[in-house]
Formats: sequence, C-alpha cells, structure tokens
Amino acid sequence: MRSVEGKWQRKWKEAGVFEPKVEEGRVKYFLTVPYPYTNGPLHIGHGRTYTIGDIIARFKRLTGHNVLFPMAFHITGTPIIAISERIAKKDAKTLDMYRSYISYYVEDREKIEEILESFKDPLRLATFFAEKVQADFEALGYSIDWRRKFHTGEPIYNAFVTWQYERLRQLDVVGKGEHIVTYCLLHKQPEGEDDIQDADVNPVEVLEYTAIKFKLEGSDISLLASTLRPETLLGATNMWVNPEADYAIVEFKGEKLLVSKKAWVKLTHQYVEPDMRVVGELKGAELVGKTVETPLGQKLLILPASFVDPDNATGIVYSEPSDAPYDYVALVELKANPRVLEPYGINPRVVETINPVKIIDVPGVSDHHAKVVVEKYGITSQLDEKLEEATREVYKQQFYSGKLIVDDPDFKGLSVPEAREKMKVKLISEGKALVFYELNRKAFCRGGGEIIVAKIKDQWFIDYGTPWWKDRTRKLINEKLEIIPSKYKKAFQDVLEWVEKRPCARKRGLGTKLPWEPEWIIESLSDSTIYMAFYTIVHKIREYNIPPEKLTPELFNYVFLGEGSAVEVSEKTGIPVKVVDEMRNEFNYWYPVDHRHTGIPHISNHLTFYLFHHTAIFPEDKWPRIISLNETVIREGAKMSKSKGNVIPLRDIAKIYSADLFRFYIASAASLESVLDWREKEIELVLDGLYRFTNIMMQSRNVNGELPSDYYGRWFASKFRRIISDAKKSMEALEIRDYVQTTFYQVMNLLEQYRDLVGEDYLKAVKYVSKDWLIMLNPVIPHLTEELNELLGGSEFLSTSEWPRSDKYPEDEESEILVDSLFSLVEDVRKILEVLKKPASRAVFIVAPEWKREALRLYREKKGIKTIIEELKSKYNLRGRELEIVEVVQMFNKNPSEEVFKTSSKKEYEVLEYSVKFLEKKTGLKIEILWEDEARARGIPRSEKAQPLKPAIYVD
Ligand SMILES: [Zn+2]
Repeated sequence: MRSVEGKWQRKWKEAGVFEPKVEEGRVKYFLTVPYPYTNGPLHIGHGRTYTIGDIIARFKRLTGHNVLFPMAFHITGTPIIAISERIAKKDAKTLDMYRSYISYYVEDREKIEEILESFKDPLRLATFFAEKVQADFEALGYSIDWRRKFHTGEPIYNAFVTWQYERLRQLDVVGKGEHIVTYCLLHKQPEGEDDIQDADVNPVEVLEYTAIKFKLEGSDISLLASTLRPETLLGATNMWVNPEADYAIVEFKGEKLLVSKKAWVKLTHQYVEPDMRVVGELKGAELVGKTVETPLGQKLLILPASFVDPDNATGIVYSEPSDAPYDYVALVELKANPRVLEPYGINPRVVETINPVKIIDVPGVSDHHAKVVVEKYGITSQLDEKLEEATREVYKQQFYSGKLIVDDPDFKGLSVPEAREKMKVKLISEGKALVFYELNRKAFCRGGGEIIVAKIKDQWFIDYGTPWWKDRTRKLINEKLEIIPSKYKKAFQDVLEWVEKRPCARKRGLGTKLPWEPEWIIESLSDSTIYMAFYTIVHKIREYNIPPEKLTPELFNYVFLGEGSAVEVSEKTGIPVKVVDEMRNEFNYWYPVDHRHTGIPHISNHLTFYLFHHTAIFPEDKWPRIISLNETVIREGAKMSKSKGNVIPLRDIAKIYSADLFRFYIASAASLESVLDWREKEIELVLDGLYRFTNIMMQSRNVNGELPSDYYGRWFASKFRRIISDAKKSMEALEIRDYVQTTFYQVMNLLEQYRDLVGEDYLKAVKYVSKDWLIMLNPVIPHLTEELNELLGGSEFLSTSEWPRSDKYPEDEESEILVDSLFSLVEDVRKILEVLKKPASRAVFIVAPEWKREALRLYREKKGIKTIIEELKSKYNLRGRELEIVEVVQMFNKNPSEEVFKTSSKKEYEVLEYSVKFLEKKTGLKIEILWEDEARARGIPRSEKAQPLKPAIYVD
C-alpha cells in the first residue's frame, strides 16, 4: 500500500484533479477545515479532523458536486515569536524540542542545527512547518487545492484582514476601553485561549468572586475573604487561613486590606489605584487565634486550614460548613486533632462549640447538605481531590432548588441565586466588599508565563454583545445553520448568549496591524473568522501578480459585497476590469461555505466568532450552512501528551502505517461524537481486512464479470443496490463509521455468503461490482482503490468518477428475504443437531401452505379470529382444522414480521428446492423439501408447525 501511495498522489497532482474551476450551473460544495497553526508538527489528533474533512470532500466529488477544499496556514499571534525568542536565548528545553521536531523531517545533523538557528526568525519557523504540514497532508492523500494556500503573515492576507476590520469598525462593533482579560505576568500583555497551555481541551474561565472585608479586632486592618457564594455569609462560623502562607497588608483607598501576597499582585492588575501599596507582611500563623467581625456584626475566630490556597483568589476564606464540603471536612478534622491548635494557644473546647448552621433548605436533604455529600463520597481529608466534585454537586443542587431559611427578613425565603445577587449588591454598595476576579484553574501561557485576570484600561475589543449582531447570529444558529452531530447545537446557543466583549488585538505578535492604530496586532482568534472568503480569490491574486497595495477596501467591497462597480475599482487600483470581475465571480460562485468541519473544542471560540463575523459582514445568502464536529483522539486508553511521549506525529503515519490504513482506521474506529482510542491491535485487524479485500479483487482480475438472473443473482444484486443507497445516506448524515461498515464490511460479508451459495463463481460477482465497490471505498482509501481500478483495467481516475447508479442493480426484496432465510435455516439446523447430540443423516424442510400466509394477512387487516376462520374454512377446505388457524396467528403474534407479506409460499418452496445442494453442503445432511400437506400425508411428526418463512424442520 505504501508503495503505490506516492504514485497516485503524483498523478492527481499532475492532472490537477483537485483544482476546481467555476462552472456556472454546476452544483458546488465549498468545504473547509480550519487552517493549522504552524508552530510545530501536527499529530494524529489533528489528523482525524483533516482526514474526515477529506473523506467528505471526496464523497461530495463523487456525488456530482464541484468541490473546493482549500488549505492555508495560521501563524498569527505570540506563540511562534515566543519560541523564536527562546531559541535565540538558547533555552535548552526549547532547543531540544525543536531539534527533535526538525529531525522528523531532516536527517543530517548539521542541517538540523542550521535550520534550528534560522528559527530565530519567527517567519522562518512558521514557514518551515507550513511546508512540512503540507507535505504531511499530501502524503495522506488529502484532495486539497494547493493553489490557494497562503499564510496569515503574508501582506496580501494582511490587506484582506485590514478590509475586514475597517468594515467591523464602520459597523461600530469594535471598541476600546476598560476590559477584563486573561493576562500573562511574564510577557506583561493580555493572552487568550490560543496562547494558554491546554486551553483548547481544558478551558480557562474568568470567575467573579465577592471579596468580603472582615475587620480584625483591635486593629484597622480588614481580612479580605473571597467567595463565589456571598449569601453563605449568613451561615459563617469562623475564618480559615493557611498558617504557612505569606500574607500582605495592602493600603487600598485609605483602608488596610489583608490578602495573600499572591493576591496582592492580582489586585494591582485589577484595580489601578495609584497609591495601592504593601504596608506590612506576615505569616498566616500570626493570624490564627485572633477574632474578626463580619459585615453583619458577628464575631468569628480565625482557625488554621491547609486547604486554603494562597494562590487562589485572596487566599483567605470564611467557613460555612453547612453548605461547603471543604469547610465541613476542615472543621471535622480540626475537632478530631485538637493538638493542631496547641501552638496557637486556642482552647480546643472553643472549637468544639463551632457547629454548622443550616441556612439553606434543599428538598430531600434534611441534614447539613455538605455533611450528606461528604459522607456519600467517603471524604475524610480536606486535601481529598473528590472535594471538588462534592462541592460542584452541592452548589449545583442548591443553585436550582435551594431556598434560604434564615431569620433575616431581607433574605428569608429567597432562592439561592436571588440571595447571592442581593448579598453581593448589598455588600459592595455599602463598601463592605469588592469584586475580585480569578481563573477557574491555574494556567500558564505557552511561553511559561503565569496567567491571571487583569483589567486593562485601553484594550481594543470586539463587542459580541451588540444586540443587533446577536440577533442576526441567533437567527443563523437557530434557523439556518445545520450542526452535525445535532446535539452540539445547544452548546452554540449557550455560547451565543454569554459571549460579550472580547479583546481582539495585542501589542505584540505576528499578524495584521489594526488599521487605525498600527501599534496593535489583530490576535489569532480574531483574524481567522472569514478567511474562507479569501480562498475564493487568492489564486487569482497570485495568477495576476496583484501586489498587496492594490488590494484596497474598494476592491474587496466590490468582490465580496458587490458595492461599487468593477470599472470604478479598476480605475482606482489599476487592476483590469476583467480580473476584478473574475474575482467577483469566483467569490459569488463558491460562497457561502457549505460545510466547515472541525474539533469540538472550537465551539466556544473560533466557530462562534466565525458565525458572528459572517453575520456582521455578509448578506444572509452568504452565511455558513453546515458545521460538523468530531471528538479527540487518545492512544491505548490514555490521553496523548508530550510529557508521556505517546504522541504520534502525522509525519510518521504514511511511513509506518500507510495513508490508506490510517484513513480507514480513522473513519471506522469511532463515530464523530466519540473519542477515538488509537489501538495498535485494532489497526492490525483493519490491515487484515484490507489484505483480504485486495486478494479478492486481484483474484477477480481475469474472470468475466456477470451476475446471473437466478434467485441468488437477484438476491445479490438487490442487496448491493441497498448498500449503494444506504452508504449514500450514511455519508450524507456524516455517519462515516456506518459508511465504512456498509461499503466495506457489509460487502465483504455479502460476498462471503454468495460464495457459500455459488462457490468460486462468486468472483464473477466481485468483478461485476468491482468498479462500483471501488468507487464507494474511494473516499476512505483513495490510493488502494485507484491502484486496484487500474489493475482491473480502469483507465480513468476513480477520484473524479461518479457515484454508482443503484438502478443498475434490480430491486428484488422477495429474493433478498428468501435467500437470507436460507442462512438462518442453516443456523436452525445446527442448533437442532447440537441439542440432538446423535448423528443424523437426513433433514426434511416442510413449507407452510399459502392459507397460512392468508390467515396472517387477514389478521393484519384487523379481522377477528372468527371471521378469519370463516373465510378460510371453506376456501381452503379446512373444516375441523380451526385450531391450526388459531395457532398460526398466535405464533405470528409472538414474533411478528413484515417479511412474511412480501413473499409467497410458492416462491418460498421454489427457493428451498433450488437450494438443496447449498443446504446439504452447509448442514452435511441429505435434504428433502416438502409441502406441509405432503409431509402430513407421510406422517412426518409436527409437520403442522410449519410457519410462513419458518419451515418445520424434521431431522432423522
Ligand atoms: Zn505569556
């Protein structure tokens, strides 16, 4: 397989078979998969998404569509620059990693070092991997139109994005102002999902805490304790600090606030107060044993707790052990180990008196909610990881069904969300709390910098909250867009509702300058939203050598939006009218994007922005039509990661496995919505299947293809016809796994059965269907099918042929049912022989008479049993056999089947007669076929048990 793959890739390229042209009147299909980010080699996880994209493209081509499947490369943002800088600084880890990346492609040691040296230039790094990714894609047989490739650092692309952003600014959806962002402490700039390690699989969210001031008794200092649930202040029992942690006293708007040292750094990024400064430092241990006063006037003791993370929010919390599992466990632990309190001089009896106070009622939970859940999970330590899950469970249940049962009339009877909001507003407006932002998890940028939440004063952002814009995008998602698998539609709808302002530019990175403030660079999630439009014209820009400075907004306004005229644009830019119109035609023909395929983690960012930017800039008829998604890839049950060393680079695939084996495995191992677990054992099985397939095909090479018109031939043809139509339906619904099942395994199985029926003549059937079969398999295993087609005498590319016509294969459902039932009959005899446990030599198959079918037919017409008996008795002379009529109906009732009504008794008998040889071969018995009446006449026992399609079997 490996040896023929390169040959076909060359042939396709030479013939330009994947370079479509505008063909007015012909149905087009514009399919895209996101351009890869080229800061390193891709792996099989990426390979799954791109392979599925290619399979769809190839299928659409076969079903008559003029398919455009382009590809480009994304280099925008800071990650590539960061790597270049680390290489320039001779960072050992980075040098090692990139040395190994380069060695995937280059063997010569000196050459590797030379290339590594060149990576000090970020553009060299990006284009090196872009080239390699292209080679990897070609080696996998992707049917991409490479004439249209570009990278996002090219001036022609910058011109396009410049146009896009001027448009957005005119629409008044871009603004500048105070903005909450994820911010890198190392690089001192906002950094988004694209820059944060693992953010695609483990999203980073900004959480809004309420940081409440607790006055330290006998001082002017307030402890700032943060919570996501300020309503629980009503049930606070004590404070927790981490005795080991470092705390700072911060002067803030004339007050002294005590927070962890880590939190101080975050505060300075969230509150720009010129005179905010640290006026003192202390260890947590120094606070333990002291008392604070809550904003509600209550006195609380400060106690030690190791679960308190100085690196999370303010590093101080108050305890509400009735509803917070962490607090509950910490309190229980403290009571069990009173010695912990000794160094602080706290009397253990004081701690004994601290007990949870129930303030929230949840239906079905009579005890303290935290206690119930902690006990359910069997948690005994405040460092138990299960506490996260327990906390989520309590919070979720209380959020939806909790009610406050406190005396305070302001809060009594409120739902948890109502009470939360009310308490927050009350505390903040009274100056007793402030907002503190924190991430849902610890996060670092790809360059190793710690990520925190910061408020930026003058940040450029896109306002996805703009009402008219949201309305338009909602219309697209709810009314127009098809999402496959459809269960993800809800995720799109959710993101649409919560997405608000998003930073769109940074002061650093590769990419396109913000047109009106060129010290800003448009960041990577913001410059990759409508680039599919650029694919439609980029090859024309290259063909006519149009320089970037001629790619003016007027040109794009005309090409993409039909504003102005070709003549005006031509006068202004100097580009000939003919060329301007060609570009306009290309766009008009290819757009909108019919189908975008990608991975599920892109829903909440990239795909959402893709939809938004389209509804902002383009008219409705140019909006995206289908989005499909696939899950990720793991390997032998484990997540792939660099640290585990279990990542398989795409580069190795074609060399180690062959492209077609990979493609087949990817397509067949999991449905789109399931995680694909890459298992070597299963790959071997797939390979075996492909060998058998190839052998069958090769054996059929010198036989004449024909399908006889006997029962078996008609059965085969009708089955194959069904396979053709089922396969098409599967792929149209993107049930690609079913598609492989149908086109490969079902056909293999059908041929095996046919071989059982007719012996080696089955090869004639293989030959008869070979072309159609190869065509159906071509989207999945394009190289092998092209090669076999050539070996079997085909002279044209399969990749550009037409989907098989099912009407070449006559439909004959009756033959299908009757021949299928032969195989189940053989199974029945086998079971009988097993039970008998004695040697047998002869079997009689007894066929039910036509009146039994008629009885069932009348029954299906809802005739009463009396009427049925009346009608049949005289017609078939069944006087005295009324009970038999009743029995036939009863047996049918136990196991009803429509197939009975699609067959006649006469044909049933004929097919059995015709198949005596087959039945004898399969059962090893002498076979006789009798009508029920004949068998009864011969006194064969239980002959009357014959049912339509279920002959009575007598073994002797
Ligand atoms: Zn950073």
